[in-house]
Amino acid sequence: MSTCEEEAKLVAILGKFIDIVSKELPDDVMKKLTELRTQEEAPLAKAIYDVMFENMDKAKKLNRPTCQDTGVIQFFVRSGSRFPLLGKLRSILREATISATKSAPLRLNAVEVFDEKNTGTNVGTDVPFIEWEIVDDSTNVEIEVYQAGGGCSLPGRSIVLPPLAGYEGAMKFVFDTIVDWGINACPPLVVGVGIGTCSTSAAKLSKKAMLRPIGTSHPHPKAAAMEKSIEEGLNAIGLGPQGISGKNSVMAVHVEGMAHHPSVLGVGVTVGCWANRHGIIRFDEHLAYEVVSHTGVSL
Ligand code: SF4
Repeated sequence: MSTCEEEAKLVAILGKFIDIVSKELPDDVMKKLTELRTQEEAPLAKAIYDVMFENMDKAKKLNRPTCQDTGVIQFFVRSGSRFPLLGKLRSILREATISATKSAPLRLNAVEVFDEKNTGTNVGTDVPFIEWEIVDDSTNVEIEVYQAGGGCSLPGRSIVLPPLAGYEGAMKFVFDTIVDWGINACPPLVVGVGIGTCSTSAAKLSKKAMLRPIGTSHPHPKAAAMEKSIEEGLNAIGLGPQGISGKNSVMAVHVEGMAHHPSVLGVGVTVGCWANRHGIIRFDEHLAYEVVSHTGVSL
């Protein structure tokens, strides 16, 4: 296969994958929504979960996106330094986004900054957003796609706390953020919390935390305890599905951290909604692929 043919093949596979991610939720989200649905006893909360599951069935049967807001497309790329198409990946991801926008179809969500004009393709300046991680000496690539809706992006924020605020201050910031804004993000939510030095590093880590598979805990016992404590506290608020009140507010709370400056604690919060549309696909150097996030999906 020539390089051009390989590029076209990758665009076609990734375009189809983005399309499917907009219509089928990943295994971890489906499992958790199923679990939370069984816990509700209030008729209205049960009815909202029933509507969510009916919505998901219809999206699959009618081949339409799960939510009308298909988000801004974001990619998290972990590429081997020797993956043959590494140098072409940026343009491949942009082409795949354009392709999925037509096929799904995805809502046109890229408004060119300052001009405030919709590009009509879901591609614009630095959109799709791409976060890169290069893995030494590997020939494979793992691509995670996330569809960032407007409502679920709304609660996202970060702050740099003074030293005495400590981890309690970080938790208070998370609670204040979700209490003030969580209801706008179509609960039950996935809350990602990042701990770093500056607002940028904390925000970036909070997105990484939000995307961690539901059902996993941070390996550090203190971070895992923080996740459990925030999750229990937020569930006690009882936002319920779509914020109409119920037993739970969140599907998960994930915390990620990095070494930080001794005089400050940067805290970031990123929120995902019940329709948490993310998916992971891996390719080897011959472009053989494996869909990691969605069981039984063929492209
Ligand atoms: S928050 Fe999520 S489910 Fe709600 S409208 Fe936005 S994308 Fe759709």
